[in-house]
Amino acid sequence: MNDGGPAAVTAAPPDFAHLATRAVRGLRAYDPGHDLVAFRRRVGPALIELGSNENPWGASPAARAAVLDVLHDLHRYPDPLGGDLKCALAAAHGVDPSEILLGNGSHELLMLFAQVFAGAGDEVVASQFGFAVYALAAQAAGATLRTAPALPRDDAMPRGHDLDAIAAAISPRTKLVYLANPNNPTGTWFGLDALSRFLQRVPREVLVVVDEAYAEFADDGATALTLRAAYPNLIVTRTFSKAYALAGLRVGFAIAHRDCIAVLERIRESFNVNMAGLAAAEAALGDADHLRWVLARNAEERENLDRALTARGWFVHPSRTNFVLVEFGPGAGAIESALLDRGIVPRPMGGYGLPECLRITVGDRDENRRLLAALEAME
Ligand code: PMP
Repeated sequence: MNDGGPAAVTAAPPDFAHLATRAVRGLRAYDPGHDLVAFRRRVGPALIELGSNENPWGASPAARAAVLDVLHDLHRYPDPLGGDLKCALAAAHGVDPSEILLGNGSHELLMLFAQVFAGAGDEVVASQFGFAVYALAAQAAGATLRTAPALPRDDAMPRGHDLDAIAAAISPRTKLVYLANPNNPTGTWFGLDALSRFLQRVPREVLVVVDEAYAEFADDGATALTLRAAYPNLIVTRTFSKAYALAGLRVGFAIAHRDCIAVLERIRESFNVNMAGLAAAEAALGDADHLRWVLARNAEERENLDRALTARGWFVHPSRTNFVLVEFGPGAGAIESALLDRGIVPRPMGGYGLPECLRITVGDRDENRRLLAALEAME
């Protein structure tokens, strides 16, 4: 009889790590940060979660209503083509639905690009301090990652992408380049002129992914999408997880040449975006007022946070996102521990090679006030 616990395994298991492909054997799983579920259990509702660049203002009420609406149909599969959402996105971005690929978050799509376009013997180029998923995608696909050095700490875009260095890292073996604009975790960005000059230097057969997960937060509305006509090797990704506050539902999308999308569609899991995600994303896209309100709140709170942290003498990287990368110096680890003790969760940056920094999501007014009070109490 089962006593309720898991049955003990008596037979010796095979060496699973060895059974994995060569590419996967050398991988470490993506580090999602602190165990938030455990923190929530311990601290309760007072917990301040500033570690995952989520949106504290929440999703559009229309998105919530759309989710409730689909609850009647949970026994059905979602639309495998995501037709309604694609049409809404196509209208919003002035593209054709055939130029859009939907993903279970943009993370899934970033992985898919490498899986489809880069394999053993190929190279993938990304920037130092670039979003961690690019390296994971390249390595999981069996390709070799080439990391271009970032801009120096004293640059106007400290630790941001150095597009010249990235262009120089492209070789005849390069299949794919990943850029983030703005970048996570640095918060830094580059302009469209610089991107255009960069793209002129990239061979047509090298695909350039511009990850615009945080693009809505930049107040100038600049997007690589405006360069698509001249550069069919461009793939632009976006997400509903950040400005649209739908991180829990996992919806992202890519816009690229229709032939590129058609190839990617060959291995996209047919029902990768679930019914609630499709409905909520479409509704959120239709609520421009809510988006504007969120962006205004974020801009205001980011400025307050930046000013207050800078005034304390800490170096705050310029940011066009919903987070700030703060250089606390050698005491960063102690500051992180003290914040955790007070129920405030930042993101440690050791994994990015920035152990003296913490990445802090812009919270709402009350969360930021409590964060600053906690930092003050440590001094
Ligand atoms: N790109 C960047 C730069 C990100 O920071 C993130 C999330 N942290 C993603 C992509 C993936 O987001 P999602 O899968 O939620 O769309």
